[in-house]
Amino acid sequence: SDSHFPIPISPSEVDYSLHYPQLFPSNDQRDKNKKIEFADIGCGFGGLLISLSTLFPETLMIGMELRDKVTEYVKERILALRVANPGQYQNISVDRTNSMKYIPNYFEKAQLSKMFFLFPDPHFKEKNHRRRVISPYLLDEYAYALRVGGIIYTITDVEELGEWMKTCLENHPLFEALTSEELEADPAVKLLSSATEEGQKVARNEGQTFQAVFRRISAAP
Ligand code: SAM
Repeated sequence: SDSHFPIPISPSEVDYSLHYPQLFPSNDQRDKNKKIEFADIGCGFGGLLISLSTLFPETLMIGMELRDKVTEYVKERILALRVANPGQYQNISVDRTNSMKYIPNYFEKAQLSKMFFLFPDPHFKEKNHRRRVISPYLLDEYAYALRVGGIIYTITDVEELGEWMKTCLENHPLFEALTSEELEADPAVKLLSSATEEGQKVARNEGQTFQAVFRRISAAP
């Protein structure tokens, strides 16, 4: 259960010195203006974080993952990359957590500029739709954590889930779809189908993917 892993009681309690020790040797004396900006929700084995790390070397990012063993694997993977590439991969980390419960414990209002939901679990049955990581209710939370102009990226190989995520985003007043030109110009979009372990599996099987990429907009006056 959740009681087995520690959860920060508020965003100010997230210990940056544990996650990014080279950048923040002391949590108490750290620059409090430098905050995590990208979140990879259900990060799995961490492939996206690793690709994003060198693409956005100045940006702090975190993966959130429910499975303990998978989280430990990602931690080890990041440590090994740091050792093999001195000075690199210092901006990525992972935490074992239930993202459906604890997003507000990690991120303040408007803290994030990108949130990623890559190949989330489909939860096919109607009664389990409430367990989906994209839902009208959870989008309210994501809209809170994202700054205006921030972007939410979703991709899946399950057509029905792809439709569901897109419809939830279209129906939410605080999100609008990126145009095809904007999608083309965004380097993170290129990683959606290729950077993660799940994406690579789908690509190997020549499976179709369905993506929805939306921008956080301000509320109508
Ligand atoms: N994004 C990765 C990829 O594309 O390879 C992993 C995809 S995998 C199908 C879905 C992941 O979400 C699993 O690793 C699962 O443990 C994680 N997950 C499911 N529910 C979660 C939750 N409530 N909070 C955090 N992670 C969750």
